[in-house]
Amino acid sequence: MLCCQGYEFVEGGETTFEVDASHVKYGSGALREVGSDAKNLGMTRVALVTDPLLASSEYVATVLASLRSAGLDVAVYAESRIEPTDESFAHATAFARDGAFDGFVSVGGGSSIDTAKAANLYSTYPADFDAYVNAPIGRATPIPGPLRPHIACPTTSGTGAEVTGIAIFDYLAHHAKTGIASKRLKPTLGVIDPDVTLTLPKTVVACSGFDVLSHALESYTARPYTERRRPETPNARPMSQGANPFSDIASTEAMRILGANIVRAVADPLDAEARERMLFAAMLAGIGFGNAGVHVPHAMSYAVAGLVREYRAPEYPDAEPIVPHGMAVILSAPASARFLAHANPTRHLEAARLLGADTNGVDATDGGELLARRIEELMRATGMPNGIGGVGFRSADIPALRDGAAPQKRLLANAPSAVDAAELETLFAGALRYW
Ligand SMILES: [Zn+2]
Repeated sequence: MLCCQGYEFVEGGETTFEVDASHVKYGSGALREVGSDAKNLGMTRVALVTDPLLASSEYVATVLASLRSAGLDVAVYAESRIEPTDESFAHATAFARDGAFDGFVSVGGGSSIDTAKAANLYSTYPADFDAYVNAPIGRATPIPGPLRPHIACPTTSGTGAEVTGIAIFDYLAHHAKTGIASKRLKPTLGVIDPDVTLTLPKTVVACSGFDVLSHALESYTARPYTERRRPETPNARPMSQGANPFSDIASTEAMRILGANIVRAVADPLDAEARERMLFAAMLAGIGFGNAGVHVPHAMSYAVAGLVREYRAPEYPDAEPIVPHGMAVILSAPASARFLAHANPTRHLEAARLLGADTNGVDATDGGELLARRIEELMRATGMPNGIGGVGFRSADIPALRDGAAPQKRLLANAPSAVDAAELETLFAGALRYW
């Protein structure tokens, strides 16, 4: 059998991958065109979904003006939670149902975009909440048909939510972060306007930048798609296919841009070039992980974010303790690189090189260590906490962290080598402190 772009086929393994390319519009001033885009998609009555902090921003004003000048009827929902929950999704769904909208426009970070995805889903195909939630917490019922059109306008350079079919939330009753995953959830159009990144606070730029870095790195080091069993039917092929020739293109270029720009973008809010590059990398990484899927650092991050006691990230609303998503992910990334590199040393070494490490004369067997050190260097240069110990966790917390991450089976199955409860303990222990 032929191999494909350097991937080797294995007996009984997958031989086919899908390229789920996203429809995006990218460039300065793109937000002013949202009205015309919405009209082209057949929208007449639009729900504009955003959060309370952004509601009075110029971005929302620009999008609103554009929608109205296109002759569309718009109602604003400004109650998306920064970290959405099943309750906040239900609240937005009630708004969507009562408003009888024929389209959605979201303006904000991943939370607003994910809230619009969920409100669109549950108002279009009503069901009890667990129906569409990922198993084993929910029943992962397939979404019956297409949703209403959704234009997503990201205002942070991170989540890639505008190009993925995933909506993440805290399931309060289960004390767990989980999600809904389906190609049908993917926004119809992503409108990415780099002008929005110039007013972001430093910590927000750093956290969302590290989220992008992790999306790219985890997609690149995910279990190769050829090592997953070939599905019985084409429809059973998972959205997280594993590393594949297409996601590699997006992930490697995203890492190259990140390595060269993240420190600059965090240090100087007026460095328009660096921040624009970061937004472009975010889009690439989003497309990469939308096709490949992420793995261990993301699985660990849900436990870190969910079990935080007192830590409050600088420049975030200080009502509740919070480890922002990108921070929670990167705190585990060096430990994960050290632990998993044996499964694919060459890719770990290449990732270190793309992120800016000097790999001259370094043997591939040292790739994991070099990659971990390069990530630590970037964390120190951008003011990230020193491991999960830096946000208040101690070794006594490891069993709880292990139990928080173990249910993330979809993510752990995408790791390059097996990760179970015992491995999670080792990983969290390795993430306590780096310098
Ligand atoms: Zn992420």
